[in-house]
Amino acid sequence: MGRRPIVGGNWKCNPAEISKLDGLVANINACDTSGCDVYVCPSPLHVGLVYNKFTNGACVAPQNCNFKGCGAYTGEMAVDQMVDMGMKWCLIGHSERRGEFGLPTPVESSELLATKCKYILEKGMKCIYAIGEPLPIREQGIDAVLAYCVEQLTPFKDILDPETVVLAYEPVWSIGTGVTATPEQAQETHAAIRKWISENVSPKCAEGIRIQYGGSANAKNAPELSACADVDGFLVGGASLKPEFAEIVAAIAQAKKA
Ligand code: PEP
Repeated sequence: MGRRPIVGGNWKCNPAEISKLDGLVANINACDTSGCDVYVCPSPLHVGLVYNKFTNGACVAPQNCNFKGCGAYTGEMAVDQMVDMGMKWCLIGHSERRGEFGLPTPVESSELLATKCKYILEKGMKCIYAIGEPLPIREQGIDAVLAYCVEQLTPFKDILDPETVVLAYEPVWSIGTGVTATPEQAQETHAAIRKWISENVSPKCAEGIRIQYGGSANAKNAPELSACADVDGFLVGGASLKPEFAEIVAAIAQAKKA
């Protein structure tokens, strides 16, 4: 059985006005989900406004969560609350939460993220875990890139499971920059990550786990990237705010059609 493609839309801290939400929801509802899983990550303030507005099976995946549950955790979003609202997925590890905000907010470590992931899984939800290297690491070549990703993956070794975890490989230099990884770079990196999982978790896990590419993916570059054997989908930022999001979903569904 091949891996079913999966595409996520990360709205980040957008839109500025709730009047724009209906249009963004419509972009997601326009996606044909018959050949591709779709999820969307609304901004924390907007999750509660849109979580029940998707009509095509697209899932809401909040952009963060805590790892303790409800109670005295000011400013947090509890997995327990997500479960109650019927949500199935949560995104963690985005580079903008790992210190790429450009703001002096505390960086989330991979160890902390593994704790979050364990909590998500314990509560019966699934997790999208984002990893990826900054530019100075990419400039050192694929071995340095893999070593960087392995550091991010190591605390997850015992919890990587194709049924419950999706990886999003997102080179930091490509996020929001308009500089997309070439299909060769994406394929080489995804294959290297998969090989590491095969050797360090299990060949079965490596074969089944879905690895999304993220970084300036759009309707134009999606067909070429979708043709890469180890690219199983996309995590999309900017283009998920536009109608072209449905074209990205269509491109990978077409490329991976059995
Ligand atoms: C992202 O936010 O995860 C992302 C990949 O953004 P963009 O598509 O805008 O580069």
